[in-house]
Amino acid sequence: MIDFELTEAQQNIKEFLHWFAKNKMRPISLQADKEGDVPREFLTDVMGLGISSGDVFLGEAEAGEVVRDDQGRSQKARISMIASEELAWGDPALIISFPGPGLGAPPVKILGTPEQKKRFFEIFKDKSEPRWGAYALTEPGAGSDAAAISTTAVKNGDHYILNGRKCFITNGARASWIVVFATVDPKLGRDGHRVFVVEKGTPGFYPGRIEEKMGLRASETAELIFEECRVAIENLLGGEEYYEVKAKEGFKAAMKTFDATRPIVGAMAVGIARASYEIVKDWAKENNLFTSLLPRFRGLRDSLNYMEREIDAARLLCWRAAWMIDEELPNSKEAAMAKVYAAQVVANVTSKAIEIMGVHGCLWENLVEKLYRDQKVYDIFEGTGQIQRIIISRRIFESM
Ligand SMILES: Cc1cc2nc3c(=O)[nH]c(=O)nc-3n(C[C@H](O)[C@H](O)[C@H](O)COP(=O)(O)OP(=O)(O)OC[C@H]3O[C@@H](n4cnc5c(N)ncnc54)[C@H](O)[C@@H]3O)c2cc1C
Repeated sequence: MIDFELTEAQQNIKEFLHWFAKNKMRPISLQADKEGDVPREFLTDVMGLGISSGDVFLGEAEAGEVVRDDQGRSQKARISMIASEELAWGDPALIISFPGPGLGAPPVKILGTPEQKKRFFEIFKDKSEPRWGAYALTEPGAGSDAAAISTTAVKNGDHYILNGRKCFITNGARASWIVVFATVDPKLGRDGHRVFVVEKGTPGFYPGRIEEKMGLRASETAELIFEECRVAIENLLGGEEYYEVKAKEGFKAAMKTFDATRPIVGAMAVGIARASYEIVKDWAKENNLFTSLLPRFRGLRDSLNYMEREIDAARLLCWRAAWMIDEELPNSKEAAMAKVYAAQVVANVTSKAIEIMGVHGCLWENLVEKLYRDQKVYDIFEGTGQIQRIIISRRIFESM
């Protein structure tokens, strides 16, 4: 049975992460946004505390072990819900800039051989300098339609030669390695997909443009270029035999990654919505708007109860999708529902927050203005809102 009560250990994690978000993230949030970069000292703080991106988090869990509660149940996805909400409450651009394997972690865990997992995750144990992993699926001609990727991988002796371009890749230019989806034959569609880990410095691989964005400005979003890039066979995730038996596994790994990460993205949206809600509540209190004699009181009351209700509903959807991961249940529909709902909620809540504050909410010095810009992408990355709706309807029709 679903039980969302936090254990004592989970409550401690939540409190610690809230402290970190409040004291280490919030104070640099606006400045990092203006500069479009993350201060080096912040990255050092993140590493010093043993926090990591990827399957957020605490230290060794990165390498693929499952964190369990005292009754032996996995609580990894539950912890990632707590962490994602608290840290996105702190700052949504900084959380996705945390050093660690990031979105690259799930495909390595899903497809990688034991040797590959060890090799690619080991580098994150060294905390002497920040290191990132990245996940490169999107291309100029293949966003929502991931099956249409055209980056090619042609076998040549004990290497594959990659040619193509990836775009909008989070932490792509600074990553130590990138999980790259390519095709051995575009005519094969999904069956042709192969998943490689391309390491920084591989000949023929270089980062291109770093995007200037409306929101999440402190995070790095990069174009990646592969020109006659020679990738050793040892970097093909799962090895060649794997794809001979299970041709569709490359594409499936991309989709499984989303089932794991969409509840996380949803929980981040909840964190942003909660941050905006709290800011506007405090502002209304400071400006004595909670007096029923004011003509605007009724509108304020309606907006605040809408925000509280919707934030709770979005959180519950995310936590259910995460609970299914910990229970090892298929969760594509629930992950899509959580993501699409939370993205709508954060859009509405940040918009209402600005509505309540009027022009004050539009000032650069006001965090709500930044959160309004940051939230937009939550309905775009990890599959747009329309794509989530298609996934949900497909599952409904399948079950009829
Ligand atoms: C900040 C940021 C970070 C990102 N990080 C990464 C990353 O790390 N790795 C990575 O691989 N990608 C990343 N992306 C890319 C992101 O996943 C894509 O932008 C997303 O998948 C949408 O693709 P697209 O932008 O090409 O839009 P398109 O697919 O061109 O869609 C445009 C519009 O058409 C709609 N649409 C498309 N197909 C359909 C359909 N069949 N039915 C109905 N409507 C449809 C979409 O919903 C959307 O509204 C990132 C993007 C951003 C903005």
